[in-house]
Amino acid sequence: MSGTEKTYILQKYLDLDQRGKIIAEYVWIDGTGNMRSKGRTLKKAITALDQLPEWNFDGSSTNQAPGHDSDVYLKPVAFYPDPFRRGDNIIVLSECYNNDGTPNKFNHRHEAAKLFAAHKGEEIWFGLEQEYTLFDEYDQVYAWPKGGYPAPQGPYYCGVGTGKVHARDVIEAHYRACLYAGLEISGINAEVMPSQWEFQVGPCEGIEMGDQLWMARYLLIRVAEEFAVKISLHPKPLKGDWNGAGCHTNVSTKDMRLPGGMKYIETAIERLSKRHLEHIKLYGADNDLRLTGRHETASMTGFSSGVANRGASVRIPRSVAKEGYGYFEDRRPASNIDPYLVTGIMCETVCGSIDNADMTKEYEREFS
Ligand code: ADP
Ligand code: MN
Ligand code: MN
Ligand code: MN
Repeated sequence: MSGTEKTYILQKYLDLDQRGKIIAEYVWIDGTGNMRSKGRTLKKAITALDQLPEWNFDGSSTNQAPGHDSDVYLKPVAFYPDPFRRGDNIIVLSECYNNDGTPNKFNHRHEAAKLFAAHKGEEIWFGLEQEYTLFDEYDQVYAWPKGGYPAPQGPYYCGVGTGKVHARDVIEAHYRACLYAGLEISGINAEVMPSQWEFQVGPCEGIEMGDQLWMARYLLIRVAEEFAVKISLHPKPLKGDWNGAGCHTNVSTKDMRLPGGMKYIETAIERLSKRHLEHIKLYGADNDLRLTGRHETASMTGFSSGVANRGASVRIPRSVAKEGYGYFEDRRPASNIDPYLVTGIMCETVCGSIDNADMTKEYEREFS
């Protein structure tokens, strides 16, 4: 049977009335930084978070719990209109908790949320630039010549035209899915390496940044699944003269966004320079393969900053320097970060630590 015939038949069922019931797809982050999800029926449409029941799953199948104590609990933290099922159906982002009520090893949202709550008055905003690479179902870079390489980098960044850009269908579908879900997706662009792309989410305040980035990733992976395309968040998917993938983290507080805000940006950068290694630890696995000082990156071991400098750890955009207020960009985070870790430690460093939270301990908790 052809794909077209299958689509035609499936559509009959997708059009069926749900009789007032809705499907809630619960999404969470597993023990390897991948996403998992499962669906359940709810009796009626949901209008507020507290109407969503907690749920659970078998954590021994996701690297999140031992077999003898395998229940992990799903606590809903945000929900979005479901662009795949449409109607009143929703996707539910969830935090994972252990049986004893403590956050699961890979639940970094819990700790970050405490920092954002304590610093609510500073109104910290983020904008994340998620770079990623497309692979085909046989694990070859998408649309690259079989057994060979495309022409060297140069024509691909924001490329237009056959051979200069690949998989616009996937990217376009993802963009629309994000808008439908109500995410603050702010743009997309083709990247320097062919079949590498970027989308930006933000500005988002506090904990919402991590929530929205994870949801945008989920939608991307789901859309790509329909095209038999794989999404890689590896920071250096290909060795050699091919760009790596990052997740530049743009940051501002209320003070930085007001005229004269530059002095607050400078103070933040000064604080960041003193905690370089603590930050780097939370900025993604295999980031050492990417932060080589080449391909528009800075060094892994030393901190640097500068106006309009894409080879620095932290860049102040030219327009911000000119106006004297705005935001700054931390270029160090890798594409495979957990955004809760990165935004959490950013808040801790820029706005100040608090007694009952410590982002650096999250690293030990995950990797012990
Ligand atoms: P680049 O020039 O580094 O490629 P992009 O345009 O890809 O920059 O991304 C810039 C990001 O900065 C966007 O996600 C945007 O939402 C975010 N941003 C803009 N203003 C602010 C701000 N005041 N605070 C935090 N993030 C911001
Ligand atoms: Mn960008
Ligand atoms: Mn980019
Ligand atoms: Mn950038």
